[in-house]
Amino acid sequence: MSRSEARHPAATVTSADLLDRLRAGLPADAVLTDPDVTLSYANDMASFCPAGTPAVVVLPRTVEEVQHVMRTASELRVPVVPQGARTGLSGGANASEGCVVLSLTRMDRILEINPVDRIAVVEPGVVNATLSRAVGEQGLYYPPDPSSWEQCTIGGNIGTASGGLCCVKYGVTAEYVLGLDVVLADGRLMSTGRRTAKGVAGYDLTRLFVGSEGSLGIVVRATLALKPQPPKQLVLAAEFASGAAACDAVCRIMADGHVPSLLELMDRTTVRAVNDLTRMGLPDTTEALLLAAFDTSDPAADLAAVGALCEAAGATQVVPADDFAESELLLQARRSALVALEAVKGTTMIDDVCVPRSRLAELLDGVEHIAEKHQLTIGVVAHAGDGNTHPTVCFDAQDADECRRARESFDEIMGLGLELGGTITGEHGVGVLKKEWLARELGPVGVEMQRAVKAAFDPQGILNPGKLF
Ligand SMILES: Cc1cc2nc3c(=O)[nH]c(=O)nc-3n(C[C@H](O)[C@H](O)[C@H](O)COP(=O)(O)OP(=O)(O)OC[C@H]3O[C@@H](n4cnc5c(N)ncnc54)[C@H](O)[C@@H]3O)c2cc1C
Repeated sequence: MSRSEARHPAATVTSADLLDRLRAGLPADAVLTDPDVTLSYANDMASFCPAGTPAVVVLPRTVEEVQHVMRTASELRVPVVPQGARTGLSGGANASEGCVVLSLTRMDRILEINPVDRIAVVEPGVVNATLSRAVGEQGLYYPPDPSSWEQCTIGGNIGTASGGLCCVKYGVTAEYVLGLDVVLADGRLMSTGRRTAKGVAGYDLTRLFVGSEGSLGIVVRATLALKPQPPKQLVLAAEFASGAAACDAVCRIMADGHVPSLLELMDRTTVRAVNDLTRMGLPDTTEALLLAAFDTSDPAADLAAVGALCEAAGATQVVPADDFAESELLLQARRSALVALEAVKGTTMIDDVCVPRSRLAELLDGVEHIAEKHQLTIGVVAHAGDGNTHPTVCFDAQDADECRRARESFDEIMGLGLELGGTITGEHGVGVLKKEWLARELGPVGVEMQRAVKAAFDPQGILNPGKLF
């Protein structure tokens, strides 16, 4: 049991007390107690992460209902776990024993799209792709695009500070969150940030909340920055005889001053897995496949320049897409990579190590050695332009020895990432999966200050306990 779990004596609260108090401020259909149903809210998509059994699942539709839930939980000292679509990959949305699961999925309205101020104001349960399409209809663009964009919510994206494919050019979620409405642990409502183009009043609490994994408050409204819709992107695929050559191409592209809208890498294991799942016919004899894209006014010219750099780095074949439809197909292949790797052995542990781009080749080489040492299949898919890799350990969850080796490999990859000057998580967050590693990355002083921030917002330790620390 973690320190924060120990602080709230949930056992002294009877389930009937809790349910009566919650029902007093929520519609009947917003309180779920059927154990089969509540149990289905226990986990996100991370393997190997422990989860407790929720006491109840609540699905509020309004800010006032969220405030009621938090006031009740605070008075009864019951833990609360906020959830979006539960596509998280670190156990960050996993239930704690006896908790209130606070699912924000019914708060899914887009409240405003403003082309002059270039902002959107949304509730947390809006699905990322729904927002992207809605702003696209007005000639605007919301760039952060996790591969899970058809399912994941803006609240979850803010919770994990998520990235995506186009972040190499446009940046990650943190760069697009201008202001937030947050319900605090005791039920008070706080507004942070702004809806103006600039603003530096006080500490940047907006940024503090981005990536806080539901541990500081409940995001109930977000003001997001938008960009003008760029031209459609055209994609190039380059095959390499080694991961090192593909990484060399990445370094050459960045050093030469190019700004691709996407620069993704899939190793041979991943390419084969995607072919097996989708029958897309990617070139599966290759050791590494690099996808580069440009959404500029002359993408063909940019792709030609990048193609030449790939050839100079030793690409065995460079194939620019003929048109936007073919480009979209290549992107779909990339987006299905994690699902495809899961099909290899039934279960995966997805690492999220981000290293300086200049160390990418060393990371790939190290992962290969770790896979050999533990006799496991580890496919690597990477937002290569960001140095953000997802070495994905494929294993059979029924095989105890394989599970042990999978966990050891997963940990060794994080150790390698830190050695190379990187971070244990580029975009998936710490959750339960990496909390032992967070302390190693932050150091004792860093951990102490982060705990102090947590205590200021959540003195009783009821918000998403057992995560991060
Ligand atoms: C196939 C697949 C591909 C993926 N690709 C990417 C990718 O390319 N890039 C990437 O970054 N991630 C990716 N992910 C991971 C995941 O989709 C993201 O982390 C996403 O942001 C989670 O959103 P969600 O709505 O599912 O949130 P959840 O998983 O439900 O929650 C995530 C965290 O946010 C907190 N939270 C949720 N809502 C709120 C709220 N309203 N207020 C406060 N805290 C809240 C939760 O407590 C939890 O800690 C992928 C996942 C899958 C399954």
